[in-house]
Amino acid sequence: MDTRPGKVFLVGAGPGAPDLLTVRAARLLGAADIVFHDALVNPGILALAERAEKVAVGKRCGRHSTAQAFINKRLVDAARKYAVVVRLKGGDPMLFGRAQEEIDALRAAGIEPEVVPGITAALAAAADLGVSLTRRGVSRNVAFATPRVGDGQAASDWAEPLATADTGAIYMGAGEAAAIAATLIGRGKPASLPVVAVENASLPGSRRWLTTLGDLPALADEAFAGPVMLLLGEVFATALAAADADRVRTRFLETAQAHLLRVAV
Ligand code: SAH
Repeated sequence: MDTRPGKVFLVGAGPGAPDLLTVRAARLLGAADIVFHDALVNPGILALAERAEKVAVGKRCGRHSTAQAFINKRLVDAARKYAVVVRLKGGDPMLFGRAQEEIDALRAAGIEPEVVPGITAALAAAADLGVSLTRRGVSRNVAFATPRVGDGQAASDWAEPLATADTGAIYMGAGEAAAIAATLIGRGKPASLPVVAVENASLPGSRRWLTTLGDLPALADEAFAGPVMLLLGEVFATALAAADADRVRTRFLETAQAHLLRVAV
């Protein structure tokens, strides 16, 4: 019996749209014997793994998720049984995806994983909005941050980079909109700072919400059906002013692919 471990790939699934997958990711899915995937991964992407056994292993805020240690073990076990093992993660595996824990567990078992990058949600949201996250004279840096702290983890000062960055991208933050607003205003960000929430970036039916840091707590009243990215910074001033002029501020604008359909106000 061949006891050599199989190859394990940590693959970025991108923000949702199947055609935003990298060519390498699509090729690996087609070759996979088994795919361990997050709950957020689009069914259209999973369909590319035609011959693979598909195993859902988490993670959706507030819903059932498989404990990380168990996922790590399953990856190691699978590597000993299958030739091509794919661990498919939303967006890019190396941002807010707990990739390091999986990489470390595989290495400890003598398996060197290969990572395939994906388009992270913040960049997909910027693309949907048609607003550059950096801009000459306005924004020279972007902070990727989350206020979310895992169970048993030391609290981090998530706000500091956002308070000093020209543009901020907040992952897993929609449920903590009020705390984010209060904290960043307390750290000196103006209440007038433009904020955009983008739900289901890159997907049909994606929604966006243009507001300010001061009005951000109202986001708590919205019912979200999908993941939400919060982007903040002066680079969004023009988009916010246009929404104000159209009297659509604080209302969602629905988008279908590239087309912007204004919702009745
Ligand atoms: N590794 C992923 C992030 C995982 S954390 C990446 O690189 O994108 C999950 C968070 O990502 C969600 O709470 C949300 O803030 C964001 N997110 C993921 N997909 C998204 C999408 N299609 N639209 C908006 N936000 C998204």
